[in-house]
Amino acid sequence: MTRRIGVFGGSFDPPHLAHRALARIARDHLALDELRWLPAGRPWQKADRDLASAADREAMVALLIAGEAGFMLDPRELRRSGPSYTVDTLRELASEHPGAELFLVIGADQFAGLASWREATELPRLATLAVAAREGQAVRPPADWPGTAPAWRVLPLPRHDISATEVRRRVAAGEAVSPLVGDAVARYIDQRHLYRAAPGH
Ligand code: ATP
Repeated sequence: MTRRIGVFGGSFDPPHLAHRALARIARDHLALDELRWLPAGRPWQKADRDLASAADREAMVALLIAGEAGFMLDPRELRRSGPSYTVDTLRELASEHPGAELFLVIGADQFAGLASWREATELPRLATLAVAAREGQAVRPPADWPGTAPAWRVLPLPRHDISATEVRRRVAAGEAVSPLVGDAVARYIDQRHLYRAAPGH
């Protein structure tokens, strides 16, 4: 049987419960054998902000996905020097798993800007695009795509008003974040004193 491998990338700074909900829906909806969480080394889209360290983001993803069937932490982008590109990751996975079917799991906001990604037109050749759409929101094809827009699968996602930005803001304001990230990640953020400085400092 063809192995079905999902690829879920993000800065995960920190990872939160909306990420986990999205990942679960992807795993179940696409009947994935494994869903790989890939924290981005130095996301080129977010070069203007200091991220928590690779080790901290890796540890928090591990805590968030512990015990979940089919979820795997894949740290390859953290180990890369320089910016990390999804196209490189998909090519690596394709050669490591010959014959596997790859699925690139992304949020609708990222999908809208897909044309700006490195070698964007290669992405739908390497993987089936699976786009998480907020409840009731249509998925629009990527803007400025050269040629015919790529096909995509829709992952129906209940609304989760959670973002990593909001988690960081709450930590800096001294507010509790367990409801957004779960107890284990909240404890880790506290113990490691992450995100205490106000955003922009
Ligand atoms: P930030 O607030 O720092 O921009 P983020 O919460 O969007 O971060 P990322 O690590 O950048 O987190 O996101 C990884 C993926 O998860 C992206 O594809 C993003 O679209 C998706 N995602 C994040 N939060 C949600 C959410 N609440 N609902 C649906 N998708 C989400």
